[in-house]
Amino acid sequence: MDSKNSEFTDEEKQLIQDQFQDLLQSARMSQSPEDKAIITKAFDLANRAHANMRRKSGEPYILHPIAVAKIATTEIGLGTKSIAAALLHDVVEDTDFTVEDIKLQFGDKIANIVDGLTKIAGVFDGQTNLQAENFKKIIMTMADDLRVIFIKLADRLHNMRTLDSMPPNKQLKIASETLFIYAPLAHRLGLYSIKTELEDLCLKYHHPFEYQRIASFIKASEQKRFTYINRFSLPITARLNAEKYTYEITGRPKSIYSIWHKMETKKVPLEEIYDLFAIRIIFDPDPNIPEKTQCWAIYSIITDLYTPRPDRIRDWISQPKSNGYEALHTTVMGPGGQWVEVQIRSRRMNEIAERGYAAHWKYKENTTTENELDKWIFEIRKMLEDPKTDAFDFLDEFKLNLFASEITVFTPKGESVTLPAKSTVLDFAFEIHSQVGYHAYGAKVNHKLVSLNQELNAGDQIEILTSEKQQPEPEWIDYVTTAKARNTIKSFFKDQRKNAATEGKLHLEWLLEQSKMQISSNIFRKLYNHFNTRNKDELYFKLGSQKITVDEFKNIMETRSRSKWMRFWGISRSKTNATQKFDKSKPLVVDDDTQGYQIATCCNPIPGDDVIGYRIADDELIIHSTSCPYAIKLSSSDSANVVKVEWTSHKLMAYLGRIKVKGIYSADAINKVSKAVTSQLDVNLRAMNIDCHDGIFEGTIDVYVHNNEFLTQIIKDLQKIKGISHVTRDMLDDKAETKIEM
Ligand code: MN
Repeated sequence: MDSKNSEFTDEEKQLIQDQFQDLLQSARMSQSPEDKAIITKAFDLANRAHANMRRKSGEPYILHPIAVAKIATTEIGLGTKSIAAALLHDVVEDTDFTVEDIKLQFGDKIANIVDGLTKIAGVFDGQTNLQAENFKKIIMTMADDLRVIFIKLADRLHNMRTLDSMPPNKQLKIASETLFIYAPLAHRLGLYSIKTELEDLCLKYHHPFEYQRIASFIKASEQKRFTYINRFSLPITARLNAEKYTYEITGRPKSIYSIWHKMETKKVPLEEIYDLFAIRIIFDPDPNIPEKTQCWAIYSIITDLYTPRPDRIRDWISQPKSNGYEALHTTVMGPGGQWVEVQIRSRRMNEIAERGYAAHWKYKENTTTENELDKWIFEIRKMLEDPKTDAFDFLDEFKLNLFASEITVFTPKGESVTLPAKSTVLDFAFEIHSQVGYHAYGAKVNHKLVSLNQELNAGDQIEILTSEKQQPEPEWIDYVTTAKARNTIKSFFKDQRKNAATEGKLHLEWLLEQSKMQISSNIFRKLYNHFNTRNKDELYFKLGSQKITVDEFKNIMETRSRSKWMRFWGISRSKTNATQKFDKSKPLVVDDDTQGYQIATCCNPIPGDDVIGYRIADDELIIHSTSCPYAIKLSSSDSANVVKVEWTSHKLMAYLGRIKVKGIYSADAINKVSKAVTSQLDVNLRAMNIDCHDGIFEGTIDVYVHNNEFLTQIIKDLQKIKGISHVTRDMLDDKAETKIEM
């Protein structure tokens, strides 16, 4: 609505009415006169409140709440109250109406949801420095009423769909937040299609070129895929028809984001990704036979026809995922020697897969998965109730909880325990009971003795060995992955730390007195930098356990250097209201003459890569890759300091990149590798390390180049060498100068 508000034209008024009628009709679960009346009343109020207001794109503002309400009902499956709340979601935020007004007209429930949504709005206005605090608020509201977060997701989805009308730096910021919290949240709540669309849209703004490339690749291979799917399905449909199943078979391409993710993590070129699609069989179950039995019957038909890969069966019907997902997945060898993933779902399972938790309300009889979700929300609530967790920690732990994919393990008595994948023996111990955790010294996994940091596999049976004498040790924090175990261990040490912290505080007071200084935020900032700490508690603890001399203290006060930690996280503590040298509304164009920027050592992007800038001081930027996890976290938690950056051609400055090679060892191969690198003009070799073992060699090549095209060229040249099996770009791990004049 920042753009000029002006009276709506007759056409626009008609459009609003049409869109609303369309919403009314598509709300299939709200067709009774009473329901329609509530929705219409909410629309009338919203329409009046947003009268003559416009979105950035220039269209009438009210079209946004209508669209959000439509997503809420058609894509999430929410009911009347939620539709009303969605229509009203921006009313309190943007107009003179209050929550009280809504309560009077619509009652407590709808008013509470709108109130929750209003608290969430304004979170990402860029004014707030510590957005992490606000994330915490979002989650808090969510724990009260899930509908708030469902509508928020619908709101976010519509904003992402219409992101084109926003300025570039806002686009990046909104996309980062979406990737950081909303997409994982949608995933956790089982809203699979929304999660996928959000991720795809993020990719579109973070890596526009790659997005377009993959999208057109999928489009170009459509016909081929279609033919293959037909060929693959034909024998299956024959058998399913013969056995009188009602079903549909679809061959869906995988999402652009998931393909991109696979390319990035597995380092495979697009052309070599074969499983671009999965076959889905959705059947209408025979009510007289359990769904599970029918799933396995179909599985058996498929594996009669095609050979399954034994390690690729995923049975989420016996034990649904904690986000409610149920299905039977298998991967079989299809025609032409291609692996094909087949997903078998009943109609009900399919609806749950698409709509997640919301769909469970429709299928009330299935309670197990609801319990799983309730359990999760219960955990989150507990995390929230701990007043000592600071917002950053909370965010980290919440994220841990979001991403976890689960394994099921067993107690000696055979009771099943669900844990996030990669959980350890110690996680299991704390899951059983905090006292078991505190006193654990080892375990027997499947009757074999193992240590506490042993990673668990699905199906393991674990017996924890305890001793009264055992106590938590500091390194335990690295052994565990679950939020529960981490929090329990942390709170154990918190008490111990308290004493040290009190001493540290006294020590600082003494230092200040000795050096005749007054306490100021500047002093704290320098100490945070020096000790690599983030807050006073941590600082006092460090000062308490490693006391420093007055001279050392004075030295610290005189240095200006920034710690690595400050670069990544602590920046929100630098002044933000100072005059900005970098104009955030315009992309910063980096050329050979640009001063005051550094290349992030976490992701070391080079010219040509998609990047963002993170402002650490008025005249200093760190350039991160847009897909760098740190950068994503920064743009979601401290977006006020994020600047869009564009590279121009560099002729003077050169940047350090690393290439990783693998292959079969021969003197000739190594020779050719070094030749491929050194024969390139305008490429400066910094280091080359080759390791050989058992006839295989592995190596890294560090080169200074002007932009990523040079790197791509070297990679292409290396790939042509006989005996080379793997060439990829890689991360740097040392502290080399990442940018030189060349
Ligand atoms: Mn909105």
